[in-house]
Amino acid sequence: MAKRASSRKVKIHNQYTYQQAADVLGVSVQTVRSWRQSGLGVLDSQKPHLILGFMLKDFLAGRYSQPKRRLANDQFLCMTCNAPRRAYGGMADYLPYTATRGRLEVLCEACQGPCGKFASPRLCAELAPILSIATRNRK
Ligand SMILES: [Zn+2]
Repeated sequence: MAKRASSRKVKIHNQYTYQQAADVLGVSVQTVRSWRQSGLGVLDSQKPHLILGFMLKDFLAGRYSQPKRRLANDQFLCMTCNAPRRAYGGMADYLPYTATRGRLEVLCEACQGPCGKFASPRLCAELAPILSIATRNRK
């Protein structure tokens, strides 16, 4: 059975090279690189490529969580409610990481806590009729 990587040692505010991520998770560099093909977000506009800690955590959570949750396009997983929720007030912020990837952040319709998920400009375009999306630049 394949070794299961634990994301517990991944710090959400850190950024990792492939090697550093592999060391923290106890997997090979090839494994981390292969995750990129499986959807792990990587900042590849500079060398070395960097993986943001929370993106790695989110990726691992999505990869290993059982059973897999399927959210509708306009749903977000609220960590406080531990349930799929829609956006409070129909408002969202989009934080682009690259030209094709970013994160949509909303407030939970039930508890008004922060929720978010990875998104693409294409998803934002699909949600535009039902969500008022403001693009914020991440610095
Ligand atoms: Zn909530």
